[in-house]
Amino acid sequence: MIRTRFAPSPTGYLHIGGARTALFSWAYARKHGGKFILRIENTDLERSTAQSTQAILDGMAWLGLDYDEGPFYQMQRLARYHEVAEQLLRTGHAYYCYCSREELDAMREQQRAAGLKPRYDGRWRDSRETPPAGVKPVVRLKNPLDGEVTFKDLIKGEITVANSELDDLVLLRGDGVPTYNFGVVIDDLDMNITHVIRGDDHVNNTPRQINILKALGAPLPQYAHVPMILGADGERLSKRHGAVSVMQYREDGYLPEALVNYLARLGWSHGDEEIFSREQLVEWFDLSSINRSPAKFNPEKLQWLNQQYLKTADNERLAELVKPFLSVNDCDVTGGDVPDLRKVVNLLKERVNTVAELADAAVYFFRPLEPAEELRAQYFVAEAKAPILDLRTKLAKVEWEGHAINDIIKASATAHGVKMPKVAMPLRVMVTGEAQTPAINVVLELLGREETLRRMDSQLEYFPG
Ligand code: GLU
Repeated sequence: MIRTRFAPSPTGYLHIGGARTALFSWAYARKHGGKFILRIENTDLERSTAQSTQAILDGMAWLGLDYDEGPFYQMQRLARYHEVAEQLLRTGHAYYCYCSREELDAMREQQRAAGLKPRYDGRWRDSRETPPAGVKPVVRLKNPLDGEVTFKDLIKGEITVANSELDDLVLLRGDGVPTYNFGVVIDDLDMNITHVIRGDDHVNNTPRQINILKALGAPLPQYAHVPMILGADGERLSKRHGAVSVMQYREDGYLPEALVNYLARLGWSHGDEEIFSREQLVEWFDLSSINRSPAKFNPEKLQWLNQQYLKTADNERLAELVKPFLSVNDCDVTGGDVPDLRKVVNLLKERVNTVAELADAAVYFFRPLEPAEELRAQYFVAEAKAPILDLRTKLAKVEWEGHAINDIIKASATAHGVKMPKVAMPLRVMVTGEAQTPAINVVLELLGREETLRRMDSQLEYFPG
């Protein structure tokens, strides 16, 4: 049974890169009918926070990345790490190191001065010295001195590192908290992870982790290191390139299925397919189709995808999503006498890129917008006044329905010998405050007679003459 995991450190929000790694792990497990496990790696006591953990859980829930087991928390598993450290000490695969920070700093300083790569020199590895009193030792792995570590990465191919390149890494710190490399190995082992899918910023850790597993006589998982995500300038993706927090995209009015689609396509492909569902992703997903080179984050493409999903999104759902954005825009959508939000959304959803834009485009349905001076100057002209007044009279009695409204707009223009836009444009600006809206008869139908007439009346005084 295939078992994958996502193992974030709760030191910030859920990052776009982390979310993509999680998505790939999730999709791989789902495709193979396996299990997907969530593990919170909270051993960095200074930087881990409960808010970050919550942000990760929220982000995963929003993206629909459901997990079968967990969340497990590393800080709840300390006893187990101690037990394994004891085992390694007993079997001669690990040892206590009593070096103080100052001593380690001095060691590195000397190595640097001598033009050597700074590394732990193994001074406690076979030491028979009496340990200094009062020092809490760390536990270090006895990394093999010669030979090499080779593994076949499912994305990058074969990777080999000489053991002479690896020093004796710390497994347990003096305070009894495991290092990342130790915790991750014990957890992946205990949780029976078959495929470790993670960012390639960890590829250098893998040989070290393999050496720990070998020391334990444990089976090795398969590894798949996913290349990084870069910004358009080729630098590693960061805030400079726009939002990198998953939840920021929710706040900006993106749909989770659009972000999932985008992230899936970022560094992975299935032929030329650009728009695909979560089910299709699961069906098609395959580690061998992940690009070996880094992916470039393209916010315009994400926005385009979001638009594609918005266009076909269910009106009821969009209405719910747009509500909080509208209330920020001072729009009361709950009043009895306001347009049906589902219909408003249906009318506007093809014209916008995000739910936030949808809300901006919907404001005039819920409160009048004052037309800009330039719009008044352009459309509230002398020759429009008579047909507008005529139209106002007719609108007061017409059957309130789109076609009928359209007919009388036309009739008012014809009766005064002007083209239809000469009436429709000033009408639009009077009622919506804007020059670009969906078909004005449809807007009016939704807005209702009373509100339409009230808004027209408030603008009549701005016509000349
Ligand atoms: N906690 C590590 C991180 O967030 C996990 C790396 C891994 O998946 O092994 O980078």
